[in-house]
Amino acid sequence: MSRIFNFYAGPATLPETILTEAAKELVDFKDAGMSIMEASHRSKAYDDVHSQAILDIRNLYNVPDNFNILFLQGGASSQFFMIPMNLFGDGDAADYINTGAWTEKAIKEAQILGKNINIIASAKDTNFDRIPRDYKITNNAKYLYITSNNTIAGTQYHSFPETNGVPLVIDASSDIFSYQIDWKNIGILFAGAQKNAGPAGVTIVIIRKDLCETKNDSIPTMLRYSTHADKNSLFNTPPVFNIYMVGLNLKWLKSIGGIQAIQEQNQKKASMIYDVIDGSDGYYKGHAQKNSRSLMNITFNLKSPELETEFVAGSIKQNLIGLKGHRSVGGIRASIYNAMPVEGCEKLVDFMKNFMKNN
Ligand code: PMP
Repeated sequence: MSRIFNFYAGPATLPETILTEAAKELVDFKDAGMSIMEASHRSKAYDDVHSQAILDIRNLYNVPDNFNILFLQGGASSQFFMIPMNLFGDGDAADYINTGAWTEKAIKEAQILGKNINIIASAKDTNFDRIPRDYKITNNAKYLYITSNNTIAGTQYHSFPETNGVPLVIDASSDIFSYQIDWKNIGILFAGAQKNAGPAGVTIVIIRKDLCETKNDSIPTMLRYSTHADKNSLFNTPPVFNIYMVGLNLKWLKSIGGIQAIQEQNQKKASMIYDVIDGSDGYYKGHAQKNSRSLMNITFNLKSPELETEFVAGSIKQNLIGLKGHRSVGGIRASIYNAMPVEGCEKLVDFMKNFMKNN
């Protein structure tokens, strides 16, 4: 079987080795005579998987001891309301920097709950082509919310905002585990697994322990961080197979040299493609401003929608799939998460050069 190169934004490509390993263990997990999918979440077999995945996140990502690592459900989207629900007290306000559609959804959920939100900066006026750098954090803001990588527009923070002690809340759905993190100002970092960590169905929430302490009786039990923190994400049945896959993904990451190694590889992969864009004399036009470019989602346009359609059709013939851009930006989007091999980017680069020559 020959694997195609999958540039979809998520669910996204996974390392082939972990798919093979999962296939090998699918029916009989480590001589248990059953699949891990069938194992009780209270069994020793599953407990080892669960604990190892948490330990690997802590070690690989250098997560300090004063953070809990949780596996939750309901997608990254459920964090949009869990965060304000759990973090706000009476009279509180929080700051948001609006860098795209996913931040807007988070803002909307906080507003549905009637929370007092300040949008202290926004890139909406230029169709989210940049990370805004001018803003002032509100005195006594409960947290500052950002989206570290904007999957749709293709922009990314390359350093986190200074917060004067206000905890940063980061939606890292599309760049978790892709570079080393300085945890100094962070309160919560969360991500749906389906781009950089595994299959869809589990959300990784890394949360400072003191922010888990809300025991507010008006919050449904399942929606309180304290519920999951107190039970090590085993309050109810976790998505065992998904967490197992996240575990395999972390094992793979470790085997190739960890976050430092993948960070270097990600820089190399993205540069290869941005170099073609920048060297194309305007044939390919990048959407993001240069200092805000994402290393994960590369967005660009061609001269006309017709040419873009041809580009996508031609790429599919070369076994490069998922390159059609999101409708709000149009054009092309190449999602090149951790698991996209360098070879996939090389093939894309060759295709881009040939397409430009021939069209
Ligand atoms: N945040 C970001 C940055 C995303 O890219 C996505 C999904 N594309 C989400 C949140 C929503 O994730 P989920 O589908 O897991 O709710």
